[in-house]
Amino acid sequence: MSLPSSLTDFSLAEARDAVHAKKVSSKELATAFVKAIADARPLNAFVTETPEKALEMAVASDVRIAHGEARPLEGLPLAIKDLFCTKGVKTTAGSHILGNFIPPYESTVTQNLWDAGAVMLGKTNMDEFAMGSSNETSYHGPVFNPWRARNSNQNLVPGGSSGGSAAAVAGNLCLAATGTDTGGSIRQPAAVTGTVGIKPTYGRCSRWGIVAFASSLDQAGPMTRTVRDSAILLKHMASVDPKDSTSVDVPVPDYEADLERGVKGLRIGIPKEYRIDGMPPEIEQLWQKGIDWLKAQGAEIVDVSLPHTKYALPTYYIVAPAEASSNLARYDGVRYGHRAEGAEDIVDLYEKSRAEGFGKEVQRRIMIGTYVLSSGYYDAYYARAQKIRTLILRDFTEVYEKVDVLLTPATPGPAFGIGEKTADPVSMYLNDVFTVTVNLAGLPGIAVPAGLTENGLPLGLQFIGKAFDEATLFRAARAIETAANFTAKPAHWWRAA
Ligand code: GLN
Repeated sequence: MSLPSSLTDFSLAEARDAVHAKKVSSKELATAFVKAIADARPLNAFVTETPEKALEMAVASDVRIAHGEARPLEGLPLAIKDLFCTKGVKTTAGSHILGNFIPPYESTVTQNLWDAGAVMLGKTNMDEFAMGSSNETSYHGPVFNPWRARNSNQNLVPGGSSGGSAAAVAGNLCLAATGTDTGGSIRQPAAVTGTVGIKPTYGRCSRWGIVAFASSLDQAGPMTRTVRDSAILLKHMASVDPKDSTSVDVPVPDYEADLERGVKGLRIGIPKEYRIDGMPPEIEQLWQKGIDWLKAQGAEIVDVSLPHTKYALPTYYIVAPAEASSNLARYDGVRYGHRAEGAEDIVDLYEKSRAEGFGKEVQRRIMIGTYVLSSGYYDAYYARAQKIRTLILRDFTEVYEKVDVLLTPATPGPAFGIGEKTADPVSMYLNDVFTVTVNLAGLPGIAVPAGLTENGLPLGLQFIGKAFDEATLFRAARAIETAANFTAKPAHWWRAA
């Protein structure tokens, strides 16, 4: 194995093998990433850096390795989206209302990672309460995409809501990161930063200890530089959990072992409804390229139809705000987080704390959610949206009698400029046109880098799988990764910034 010259260029798999073979110590790795993070502050990818914790965990890992007690992710430094509660480490969900909230408990997913030996580098920036597609709704300010268009100094968004994690992975500030995806927040930022992101099947990972946005849609997943790394990390994030009754007790396969099986004989569906009006030719061409690559590797391509796809975005923007308005009712200025000064009575305290603590996009969602759940409108909006959700799932169930997996674009375009879409929420919501359907149906979806635009910005393709069949997604994504041979890297402009 020829290793990269810089430790921060290692893939998770390379680092794992090097650490296990004692070619590199965990402390060396952690030290390199702590420095890379400090050098990359202009990206604003991290809201909390935990260098002392990283070094302490790394040293403990090196002791274990020396004693021959290495666990599967021993000594591998990761970044954690600030939506995961981390014991003793500030967790803000990108919001002012959580203030300096320091959880007295650890989320199940992060606990699983630490139990597997991983090392924490810090908490990554994100859209407030995971609401957004550009990381611009964060109370901590926007994150800058490590990528810029060729010959341009314009700062671009890294996608959202897991924008900090995506930037940290793309900028080599960690070996890998965790994200969460309610309507696309892992896959969309992965696609626009040239990284790999998988939203597992609903119930694959425990949601316990993850700040809730829309509980029937939320799911955690890995964000990595390679498909192999994604397969490795999901294995150690996933688990059934008595603390989350929606987590599912199904075996977690060894995804990595299956990775190179290829796509020969795999039936791959191409849903015609994903060819939307006004889709840029670059996206259309990339999709066709993906089809050609898979065909060349022996897959069978099948044209399919998912007729209710066109209702997915409006359905999502009823269901998600409805659940959010209920989940966010707990932030009242009394129990934790931000409390307004000078309130006259308890109602005034609620109102002032919430008005000061929540940003505009979150307030907009709470208002939409409250409206669609209100007694006069419940049947017209929320109840109907639930019915359409059932029809969307039925589309998939029917199609999966004919195909094993679906191939679609991941996003309707590349990364856009900071501030470009903030004034128009609907144009922002359109970013999720290819991803929200997957959450509504509870299915797994993976975004994999597949090419560059004419201006040199990354674009991704998405595979959508059957429930709990992430293994096929990894195999298929690996086939695209091999064919696309995506080796482009962002120029490290922030080092000079
Ligand atoms: N962009 C979508 C939204 O704002 C999805 C966010 C997410 O997946 N958390 O709701």
